[in-house]
Amino acid sequence: MTLPCTATLTPVRALVDLVERDKEHDCDGFGAHAICVKVDAVADLPTRFGRFRIVAFWNNRDGKEHIALVHGDVLGAENVVTRLHSECLTGDALGSLRCDCRDQLGVALERIAAEPCGILLYLRQEGRGIGLLNKVRAYSLQDSGLDTVDANLALGFRDDERDYAVAAHALASLTVKSVQLLTNNPKKVTELERYGITVTARIPHVIPANEHNRFYLETKANRSGHFIDLDGKPHVAEQGDPVVVASPFTPKRVTTE
Ligand SMILES: [Zn+2]
Ligand SMILES: [Zn+2]
Repeated sequence: MTLPCTATLTPVRALVDLVERDKEHDCDGFGAHAICVKVDAVADLPTRFGRFRIVAFWNNRDGKEHIALVHGDVLGAENVVTRLHSECLTGDALGSLRCDCRDQLGVALERIAAEPCGILLYLRQEGRGIGLLNKVRAYSLQDSGLDTVDANLALGFRDDERDYAVAAHALASLTVKSVQLLTNNPKKVTELERYGITVTARIPHVIPANEHNRFYLETKANRSGHFIDLDGKPHVAEQGDPVVVASPFTPKRVTTE
């Protein structure tokens, strides 16, 4: 495939300058759907995980408002620790235990905040792109006993070119020279590389053992990989990354002295 034209994604001095630069941006688009992304707005976003800047993107494809949380100076930077996170309202915001999204999000943000610079792309593709309503429908099917494989299909577990085209263009828009991808999924690396993003390393995304992932640890210990939680609800990996939890035998404990 021919690499997308990124000629107008010129370097700028400050993150906020990307907004002015992209007013004139127009490219042939990334991927089969010719996806083009523009930086629309930039602001400070202090979070419980650390200090970030929030970058809001416009795109010509899905009318969704994809965002990046940027830590440190990523403009023109190499080896930027980067995580692609797919939106999950039920997990990220509401703390659902039917998936692991909230843990994956929090651990990624903490990790990125501890680096000199890093990016979390928050991609608005709820339920792997099928939307919240369909995701709840799929949960309902699981509740009524649908086989997990079929329910996963209903949940939209498939590779979606748009995931990576939006992400690749967003990274190009931020003028990063190369990234280290925080993921357990090697396919994410090859997919980003298809779009011309240089991935210098894959960093395993390991969730520390703690009270919040007790479910995983007990499931691993008791049921050898059948992801049914203690209330009998199927537990699904909506991020498309195999979940890796640090050893339950050496949990980190916070001591107060
Ligand atoms: Zn473009
Ligand atoms: Zn989720």
